[in-house]
Amino acid sequence: MIDLHTHTDESDGSFSPQQLMIAAAQANLEAIAITDHDTFAGFDEAARHAAAFPGELICGIELATRYRGRSVHLLGYFLDGVPDGAFRGWLNGVQKSRRERNERLIERLQGRGVDITLDDVRRHGKGLIGRPHFAAALVEKGYADSIQGAFKKYLDESGACFVPRNEPAFAEAVSRILEARGLPSLPHPGRVSTDYAALEESVCEMQRLGLRGIEAYHSDHSAADVDFYKSLAGKFSLAITGGSDFHGTAKPQIALGAGKNGNVRVPLKVLDRMKRYSGRS
Ligand code: AMP
Ligand code: FE
Ligand code: FE
Ligand code: ZN
Repeated sequence: MIDLHTHTDESDGSFSPQQLMIAAAQANLEAIAITDHDTFAGFDEAARHAAAFPGELICGIELATRYRGRSVHLLGYFLDGVPDGAFRGWLNGVQKSRRERNERLIERLQGRGVDITLDDVRRHGKGLIGRPHFAAALVEKGYADSIQGAFKKYLDESGACFVPRNEPAFAEAVSRILEARGLPSLPHPGRVSTDYAALEESVCEMQRLGLRGIEAYHSDHSAADVDFYKSLAGKFSLAITGGSDFHGTAKPQIALGAGKNGNVRVPLKVLDRMKRYSGRS
């Protein structure tokens, strides 16, 4: 079994890259992809601990993009080798816009009388700081009862202090991944739409924009979802991808390589097919 959707503490997971490699070995996984939000820092560090994991370590990323006015995530898998300077340079710009958003978010929170600084938030993260770390700081300081509550009250699109982030357009992110010889895949497609017909229409357009894969297996998917997303893969000639979306103790109900109560089992042949779609045999 393999797990192609995981996060380390370089984004919003709780495991260090080394801990994740050890956990992957303990779970007897044959391959693991690190797909941190907007950063390769976790993958780069995990690669230095490759000896801890006998399976294959795959370089991935999960980008937040703009699609039809909404934020839509996009996975990239670099099966031909890790991306070069051009892609990493582009990613630096994405990280810069995140840091600027974070500064504006602190100002808005302080403007509403919340006693919080960027250092308070940084203590909850390591590499790239995002809203989950703001949420943890708000809970710690007693401004919300839970992470969900902090998002609802302050951080999500209807929250009191929401600051939009300058996300790359979906089409641009797809092109950048393709230019870096990566395989772009749509994660948790149910977040684009829970309506199957509406989703199909979006996936049709995304495929024309260059999308090459769809995440059929994920902790949030029912058996019917998996079947439907697989049928979309067949219909639009997309590779099937899959993973738990492991975040460590940040999402304790999701187990590495197994999902929620064992609802995610991704066989190695999924990776073999992805390699064919990405131009390798
Ligand atoms: P950011 O990339 O910093 O804007 O933060 C986005 C991340 O916050 C997403 O990837 C989710 O993991 C998390 N998130 C977004 N909305 C919620 C929510 N309502 N409750 C909990 N986590 C959320
Ligand atoms: Fe996340
Ligand atoms: Fe996601
Ligand atoms: Zn994810």
